[in-house]
Amino acid sequence: MRPAAWGDRLHRFPPALGSCVAYLSTRDARTPPARLGFEDVLLAGLAPDGGLYVPDAWPPLDAPALRALRGRSYAEIACAVVAPFIGEALSAASLRPLVAAAYQTFDHAAVAPLKELGPELWLMELFHGPSLAFKDYALQLVGPLFEQVLKKRGQRLTVIGATSGDTGSAAIEACRERDCLDIFILYPEGRVSEVQRRQMTTVAAANAHAIAISGSFDDCQDLVKAMFADTPFRQALNLSAVNSINWARIMAQVVYYVAAAVALGAPERPVSFAVPTGNFGNVYAAHVARRMGLPIAELVIGTNRNDILARHFNTGAMTISRVEASLSPSMDIQVPSNFERLLYELKERDGAAVARALAEFRRTGSLPASASEWRAAQALFQACRVDDAETRQSIADTFRATGELLDPHSAIAVAAAKAARRRGDVPMVALACAHPAKFPEAVAAATGRRPELPGRLCDLMQRPERRPRLPNDLGAVEDYVRAHARATGKGGAP
Ligand SMILES: *Cc1c(COP(=O)(O)O)cnc(C)c1O
Repeated sequence: MRPAAWGDRLHRFPPALGSCVAYLSTRDARTPPARLGFEDVLLAGLAPDGGLYVPDAWPPLDAPALRALRGRSYAEIACAVVAPFIGEALSAASLRPLVAAAYQTFDHAAVAPLKELGPELWLMELFHGPSLAFKDYALQLVGPLFEQVLKKRGQRLTVIGATSGDTGSAAIEACRERDCLDIFILYPEGRVSEVQRRQMTTVAAANAHAIAISGSFDDCQDLVKAMFADTPFRQALNLSAVNSINWARIMAQVVYYVAAAVALGAPERPVSFAVPTGNFGNVYAAHVARRMGLPIAELVIGTNRNDILARHFNTGAMTISRVEASLSPSMDIQVPSNFERLLYELKERDGAAVARALAEFRRTGSLPASASEWRAAQALFQACRVDDAETRQSIADTFRATGELLDPHSAIAVAAAKAARRRGDVPMVALACAHPAKFPEAVAAATGRRPELPGRLCDLMQRPERRPRLPNDLGAVEDYVRAHARATGKGGAP
């Protein structure tokens, strides 16, 4: 296809869809509900009523649009997919260089390469970004988007977050060296792996701070919540979060589903995906792609022993139990926050009904779902629980059959793909969400082969670390943030 056709396409996308790019909160009970633009949704993350933002219409990705993406680079596909969600917040002319720069640092030319594992079974590698986990694919784009919007508004932000491992380094990599942002990540001292810790503590950027807290991940999360609840502090520092409920992260994750489907023959051929799932953000992005028009046959959710989603899709019950540690720590989650977005759709966009259901979920630990809602959800997703023994087996089997080393999260995707797929005639893509070298012990135990860090990180274990340590004490943490942040709140809270 001639480059001109691509240009036409790009230019036609935003104007045609500009009128429908508005966002609703999943808990807005008013009629009509409030409609927000992309900038406000980006900076706010969570809606004031506690709901999550969703677009009020799905930008269409019809057959001609998909054909126009054939042979395009990842950045070009990203531009086409995200432009309608961003709408007028950013012109096509300023979006293109921003997206191109976001994926330039990835260490594979295809950005999200596909590898064939077997007959109609593929692996999509999503670990070629700076932190070696799939969260980079969204955060590397969301960081510059934040910067762009803040500059336009003349504001500065202080980003704070807690991490049990992967999110912290992906967030630091997204925010480092950005003038409008300072970032503070709290992690539990001694409870993240050495690779994970060093990915945060060796970043030599003046605006990035990884702080060891003497406590658990829950303590770190409680400290973050307490800082947000401290209104004078929140306003003075202009606090913001980059957690996985931000719509912009979902939007950026739609891109690799589109890229993979087009590479495997969409729109003429459908494709299926298997996604290792924790917070339901990644697999929800696949659902969004399908709603936009991507021909997706099956969506398989893989969970570890923390299987609330597998239980839900297989039995209808959505009941919380205790979080248990597993080989795949990024999926050790009991409340899948992004499920609220699907619930909003299942309840036909009745924000009051969503708010009531979630209040009951909090009170009783059980989400009320009608039989018709459950059937509708089952038609969209299949789910499969993969325990630690099966995860090890999946790593070992894949290595024996293909020579590929899978990290435990990716191994769950492959195992779930094989166990739950119904359509053997449709290509199934399992998502490899982390590089095997992020979890070397588990991989070595299953295969006898110790995965190596990619070249650009080969000296990670020798790099100097900055390791500030603080007690599990709100006053101490706030003092530290105040002393090191550059935001003064003078720009006004967003
Ligand atoms: C975050 C993460 C997941 C879970 O993704 P969700 O969007 O929360 O469902 C799975 N695997 C890895 C490696 C992750 O970092």
